[in-house]
Amino acid sequence: MTDKSIFRLFTKSCSIILLLSVFINSCSFTLGQTPANKLVKVKEIIPDIEIELKYATAENFTKQILYPTNTCFLAFGALVNLKLVQDSLRNLQFHNGMNYAGGLGLKIWDGYRPRSVQYRMWDIVPDPRYVADPNIGSSHNRGGAVDLTIIDFSTKKELDMPTVFDFFGVEAQHEYMEHPLHVIVNRELLKNLMTNVGGFSIYAEEWWHYKYPPSDNFPLLDFQPK
Ligand SMILES: [Zn+2]
Repeated sequence: MTDKSIFRLFTKSCSIILLLSVFINSCSFTLGQTPANKLVKVKEIIPDIEIELKYATAENFTKQILYPTNTCFLAFGALVNLKLVQDSLRNLQFHNGMNYAGGLGLKIWDGYRPRSVQYRMWDIVPDPRYVADPNIGSSHNRGGAVDLTIIDFSTKKELDMPTVFDFFGVEAQHEYMEHPLHVIVNRELLKNLMTNVGGFSIYAEEWWHYKYPPSDNFPLLDFQPK
């Protein structure tokens, strides 16, 4: 074993121990009296998370502004788990051969989405691979899905990921392996933390989309954030 591979093994072990300790510490953060399906402002639970709602701008596949605000809501249960992921990333100061003095962090592109917006999206792209049929509803309409990426917390710069948000094509799939290695490693970091630490499930077609599984039983909502 070379010095370099021992070092890699060491840093990997440190990351695992760090993640475990964050997880154990965060277990004291209980749901309390708040129902898991209650919509809560993301920033109330995770103040240090970045939010850039793409549907609050025209920079999305519809080319229309669909949200009147950049304020993001998620179901409380999903937020409690997402905080575990954010805290794990903030403690990760070495990744992919790079030092991140301020650690890493999450940036949210979409969270809770009113059902009326789901109808507008379906009018534009009536393809169930990319837009959930509004008659069935999306996990986003239940406050249980989140679209996100990883940033360097100090600079707020996004890490290199396979595609831009809402890219409709095979390159966005989790199983697509023709990307540069560091891009795949970044995608895998997000996936490992979201699934193993946060308990979220993946969507095979979109590397950025994660679901809080209990939200399958949450109601479809049309609450309009201001
Ligand atoms: Zn999504």
